[in-house]
Amino acid sequence: MTVDNPRRGLVLVVEDEPSIADLVRLYLTRDGFGVHVERDGVAGLAAARRLRPVACVLDIALPGLAGTEICRRLREAGDWTPVIFLTARDDEVDRIVGLELGADDYVTKPFSPRELVARVRAVLRRTAGPPAGAGQPVVLGRVTLDPGRRAVTVDGGPVQLTSTEFDLLAYLMGRPGRVFTRDELLAGVWGYAAHAGTRTVDVHVAQVRAKLGPASVIRTHRGVGYAADG
Ligand code: CA
Repeated sequence: MTVDNPRRGLVLVVEDEPSIADLVRLYLTRDGFGVHVERDGVAGLAAARRLRPVACVLDIALPGLAGTEICRRLREAGDWTPVIFLTARDDEVDRIVGLELGADDYVTKPFSPRELVARVRAVLRRTAGPPAGAGQPVVLGRVTLDPGRRAVTVDGGPVQLTSTEFDLLAYLMGRPGRVFTRDELLAGVWGYAAHAGTRTVDVHVAQVRAKLGPASVIRTHRGVGYAADG
């Protein structure tokens, strides 16, 4: 069912637990989003393709088709609509991000619906707003990052990053050598206030590193955070 109030655009929510789906719909609607809810994965994937939502909120364990599989199929078809996963356990996060699904963020159940709305708004700000560090391409070691084209290359060869991964790398490469704490990166890249215990920064750093391979320019400063250096 769709709530037709798309001031901020339509968000697709795929969640089989009615109480959670209703809560998420209520909060997103209050915040000015249109909301379409599906309760199983097959219908969810079809809705994502049919409705072209501005963002998808996907539960992982769904009847029909898992949320991770919905995301994978969208990405395979070249659809990079921002995806936020609802995970049942925090230890699922490594697996989700490690699957290279191109997820943009996640919340762990039980979650605050306000927090979820903040995440949706933040991901849309990041993907719709001016690119982080817009301007001239930045070269660090073997990595070139072009903010205008939102493109990253290693030794001239393209590297596919999700929008979140790109923004994280752009943020670090925009100020080479500067060490950022996880909270600073959460605020600067994800756009929300520090959220105690979230592993979002670490898992995304790991993913960017894996994609850049031996050319990675992200260095860990133990007990402090991360910096980009060549
Ligand atoms: Ca479920």
